[in-house]
Amino acid sequence: MVEVFYEEHGDLSVLEGKTIAVIGYGNQGRAQGMNLRDSGLEVIIGNRGDDARKAAEADGFSVYDIPEAVKKGDVVMMLIPDEIMPEVFAKEIEPNLKKGAAIDFASGYCVGFDLIEPPKGVDTIMVAPRMIGPGVRDSYVAGDGFPSFVAVHHDATGSAKDVMLALAKGVGTLKAGALMLAMRMEAELDLFTEQAFGPAFGRVLLSAIETELEAGYPIEAIMLEILMSGEFAYSLKKIVEVGMIEQMNFHSQTSQYGSMTRGARFMDLPVKEKMQQVLEEIRSGEFTKEWQQEKESGMEKFNNLVKFRKLHPINEWEKKTRAAFRTLGKRKKKDV
Ligand code: NDP
Repeated sequence: MVEVFYEEHGDLSVLEGKTIAVIGYGNQGRAQGMNLRDSGLEVIIGNRGDDARKAAEADGFSVYDIPEAVKKGDVVMMLIPDEIMPEVFAKEIEPNLKKGAAIDFASGYCVGFDLIEPPKGVDTIMVAPRMIGPGVRDSYVAGDGFPSFVAVHHDATGSAKDVMLALAKGVGTLKAGALMLAMRMEAELDLFTEQAFGPAFGRVLLSAIETELEAGYPIEAIMLEILMSGEFAYSLKKIVEVGMIEQMNFHSQTSQYGSMTRGARFMDLPVKEKMQQVLEEIRSGEFTKEWQQEKESGMEKFNNLVKFRKLHPINEWEKKTRAAFRTLGKRKKKDV
């Protein structure tokens, strides 16, 4: 039976009089830092310099160099990119941690795959939002919260769970619910979504666009129909709210009949075997090893792939559709 925590499980007074040092002021750092401050907690930022430092200062935070912020922190939140975390941890975090402090991660990746081994004298906890940074802030402001995976990886002080739950409450996740999960499992599930579900879904999407394009339909109409009207995204939202089968009732009977009869033809798409392979590479640590090696050897493959993806025709298809519809692709006003 899984364990899920809500508002009543977290007590903010556990963090009263304590300083929370948010290391990194990017996607998660800004959102979580602001939420914790709005929850009445004492938050400082640790950053190495440049733009993010200025952004944090403009938002009214006291910003310190990373080692200094860690020395002040009773809770240290690791909100910098996972791939640079092990090096920063070894050089700037670990030597400056207070005894009995808590170190919090927003992802299980580094600890779960043994790239970081936090010292035994500190609590190691995780509050890992299932939400991108702007969503973490927006849903806090809206009063809805967002779901997370949480963990107590190591309890040095006897109060690691209380600290984790207080932090989770301050960040705003307990309003939606936080599910307890080992850090390694969080990392594996996250990688699988990125490496199997995402790409397989992308391939299905592209196949549909290509099929219609080859049949002579205008690309602007195809893109609007399949993706860019937002109808599909709305249906996904409804799937979450009422269920995959139940949401079919929101569609016409013509749509339902066609989908049920033709849908059967896609039942045996050969994706599961490939997904199992990807999962095996994740679970065995093969992917983590490969990614570490890539970083150490200068990221040539990564940079080539980034260049390559910019050449994909979907960039042009989206541009054309946006040009045809002046109401598409408008940016929302700046995150609150
Ligand atoms: P970002 O890429 O947004 O982090 C940017 C911050 O990291 C900036 O403050 C930047 O500082 C700092 N930084 C970058 N490189 C270095 C470095 N070499 N040394 C020191 N500081 C550096 O990270 P995210 O917010 O995306 O991710 C943070 C954590 O949250 C990760 O563990 C991630 O897995 C997790 N997470 C992220 C989600 C997301 O929405 N992106 C969702 C859920 C979890 P500077 O200004 O100096 O460059």
